[in-house]
Amino acid sequence: MTASIHSRALVIDSHCDTILKVLSSRGAYRLGDLHATEHVDIPRLRQGGIDVQFFAAYIGPEYKPDRAVKRTLQLLDSLHQELDANQDTLKLILSTEDITSAQSNDQVGVLISIEGGEALEGDLACLRMYHRMGVRAVGLTWNERNQIAEGVGECRSGGGLTDFGVSVVAEMNRLGMIVDVSHMSVPGYFDVLAVSQHPIIASHSNAYAVCSHVRNLTDRQIRALAENGGVMGINFAPQFLVDHGRADLDDVVRHIDYIVDLLGNSQHVGLGGDLDGIGKTPAGLEDASKYPALTDALLLRGYGEQDLINILGQNHLRVIRTVLG
Ligand SMILES: [Zn+2]
Repeated sequence: MTASIHSRALVIDSHCDTILKVLSSRGAYRLGDLHATEHVDIPRLRQGGIDVQFFAAYIGPEYKPDRAVKRTLQLLDSLHQELDANQDTLKLILSTEDITSAQSNDQVGVLISIEGGEALEGDLACLRMYHRMGVRAVGLTWNERNQIAEGVGECRSGGGLTDFGVSVVAEMNRLGMIVDVSHMSVPGYFDVLAVSQHPIIASHSNAYAVCSHVRNLTDRQIRALAENGGVMGINFAPQFLVDHGRADLDDVVRHIDYIVDLLGNSQHVGLGGDLDGIGKTPAGLEDASKYPALTDALLLRGYGEQDLINILGQNHLRVIRTVLG
């Protein structure tokens, strides 16, 4: 029963940092091999029944602001090399049609995102070139302030989107790229919602009411995201799941429960595990192969089939279809 729902459902995860591991390993960590370390590779994505994985190009603080474009290109090149090397098993997702095609060819879909608007170095030309390279989502900030907005780690001025930030959101709407607000400060978050013509995502953010970490979203933020038609992907980082101590699978379920109860429906929460971006993982969700255990836990909790389908991937698919076409 469980296995059939999990394998039948389209499963989409909206954030991992694996490509940084691939790049840093200088050839030692390749996506095609099954590893005993780290969290994500193709064999484990398959075991986990993950149909579409967002791969984020994360630009570390040491590359900001002056070397952000070069660093982004290195990360994108690394990901494209993996796509080339695994053409039978991976499919670059540029539109909804590519998801359908990946499904029928038994391939894992790869949706490329960028984590940190520093990658634009203040120029929409860079955004357009990234789109041409296959990037379909951009997290406007990481924790620091940049030319677009402030991140949660540097929000002393209380500022929202800059004029350039507004133009970035407009250009992303025009190009068909998903705006990602995880890591953004609260004023910037609401500015994006006011400006964006399309649904947005918080690709890897949890509920503040359940765990009071600055990276998590308040009830007001979650309600506004739902009004926008957006989705938040639940992050597996223990420090975003529980206030103290170790986290396990049930803590992930608690965040999902809370958001579903708050909104009265299951249409705005999804998965965004942050695998390979987090040091520790919850007990029971140690790597990408463990996702079916989460479906089991949600079933046990009493979720019906349609709710499971929504949470596992339909919600993300709705945003992808609306924004990418
Ligand atoms: Zn992140």
